[in-house]
Amino acid sequence: MQYVKLNTNESPFPPSPAVIRAAEAEAERLNLYCDPECTELRQRAAALFGVGPENLLPVNGSDEILYFAFLAFCDENMPLAFPDISYGFYPVYADFLHIPSVIIPLREDFSIDPADYIGLHKNIIIANPNAPTGISLSAAQVEEIVRSNPDNVVIIDEAYVDFGGESCVPLIHRYDNLLVTQTFSKSRSLAGGRLGFGIACEALIRDLNAVKYSVNPYNVNRMTQAAGAAAIDDNAYYMENCVTIAKNRDDTAEALRSMGFRVLPSCSNFLFAESPDITGEDLYLSLKKRGVLVRHFRKERIENFVRITVGTREQMDLLLKNIRAILHERGDIK
Ligand code: PMP
Repeated sequence: MQYVKLNTNESPFPPSPAVIRAAEAEAERLNLYCDPECTELRQRAAALFGVGPENLLPVNGSDEILYFAFLAFCDENMPLAFPDISYGFYPVYADFLHIPSVIIPLREDFSIDPADYIGLHKNIIIANPNAPTGISLSAAQVEEIVRSNPDNVVIIDEAYVDFGGESCVPLIHRYDNLLVTQTFSKSRSLAGGRLGFGIACEALIRDLNAVKYSVNPYNVNRMTQAAGAAAIDDNAYYMENCVTIAKNRDDTAEALRSMGFRVLPSCSNFLFAESPDITGEDLYLSLKKRGVLVRHFRKERIENFVRITVGTREQMDLLLKNIRAILHERGDIK
């Protein structure tokens, strides 16, 4: 069966033609190691993010910068705080590295209460927008958290920021304890290329580079460095795609609400939704049988939800058609 894949928050749009050409051209040089410093890519990315090349560490997907940061800044005596419902890799890396976790519950409405993180005196990681909820904090709220924890590192994971969040990258010039992470996997159609960035003051980037050069100096391969640089040159194409996704997201949310779903207010490229008429697991399984993959989490508080990646208009129409049919079969929609 050819599945409609709405389960891992990829972009439904292909890389731009220039990105494909750049990767193909680099393939001819695969006999040579790549530039470990990613010089060209860092220069272009510096202009994109409004920072200096010394503020950037390109990585093999943003998962890698999270791993480097956990290794660099946390240990048995330096716990890490994060929300109870957030990106699944935070507790996985923390457990793997024996880092004690301080788990802070989201509010009833699944938003983060910034007050929980003010003056916490612990290292902190927050996805903003959060995943899988899609709910965002403002940059001003994040700034308060960063400002009130001056002796700890605050990591802001901006994997989904391009779909409607407010980036905290400009704050790195004022706070030496802030690490922002971004990825080209979502908004820039490069999930398979594996490209992410750590963005921070020069001293934090130096620490992270110390980890990188002890683990994997050639972490971003030749084709991906070239593809990333070309993607930055084609930024307008990618930002247009983000606008399309945001529109599809809002229209899909409205259609789901009209079917009785509770849909959390998403600033990302996915929706987190629950129906009063069908459990999250049943909806996930029924959609899968019909060839549509969404994500279900067997986890307290959110087991009745499904997370739906926002795709093209056609994919969203197909999703809604199938949900309608599933509810109809059960007699929940007349
Ligand atoms: N952070 C969050 C919140 C994510 O959802 C993801 C994607 N699974 C990542 C980081 C990592 O993405 P990547 O390694 O592809 O950059």
